[in-house]
Amino acid sequence: MSDTSLNSTEEVRGLIRAGRAAIRVGDYEAARTTFERAVALDPANQEAADGLRDAQRRLGIEGQRRTAEQVEYCYRHPDTETALHCTSCGRPICVRCSTPAAVGQLCPECRKGRRASNYQVSALDLLKGGIVGLVVSTVAAALISLIGGGFFLFLIIFTVGPVAAELIVRSVDWATRSKRGRPMQITVGVAMFLGGVLAFLFVPNPLAIGLFLLAGISAAVARLR
Ligand SMILES: [Zn+2]
Ligand SMILES: [Zn+2]
Repeated sequence: MSDTSLNSTEEVRGLIRAGRAAIRVGDYEAARTTFERAVALDPANQEAADGLRDAQRRLGIEGQRRTAEQVEYCYRHPDTETALHCTSCGRPICVRCSTPAAVGQLCPECRKGRRASNYQVSALDLLKGGIVGLVVSTVAAALISLIGGGFFLFLIIFTVGPVAAELIVRSVDWATRSKRGRPMQITVGVAMFLGGVLAFLFVPNPLAIGLFLLAGISAAVARLR
């Protein structure tokens, strides 16, 4: 054996050692190039050939794993990464867009589709909702005005207003079979305001009525969304 072939055998051994070290630390790309150089220097070397095959196989597995773990983005917010999917249509959705369902979560479009009948509001529904909302909120505002003063005014904002709003929403639900949506929100909001004005004609307590309208309308409108 000549000096050059001895040197190159030594170099191939070094490359094989380096390639195996690269495999151990998980750098399969580096392992492949290292084994490729070893195979190029000594095509007959079985260890170098085995090492190259091993590195190539591991790179393939790695690639497949990466594809499987591919990040997905909310279909409504292309910048938001997510692991959630709509249970109904299967599209990826982010936390902001998802609504908990009986099983899994729904995207806004599927949620709308599912509640569609509640959102099909007729003029008669609006009329019924408006009248019931007006009557109940007039009574509620008048009662609140009668009691309203001092510390009770604070209670109106935090307790009495929202409770009265809930009462009004339930009455409206009873009259309209739980219709929802923007037209219903506006109708009931206006009806409540008019109820407050009517109550003011009987019991002029502007502060109590004002607070009731502020707390009550916002709570009721939020419930009717
Ligand atoms: Zn969906
Ligand atoms: Zn989203």
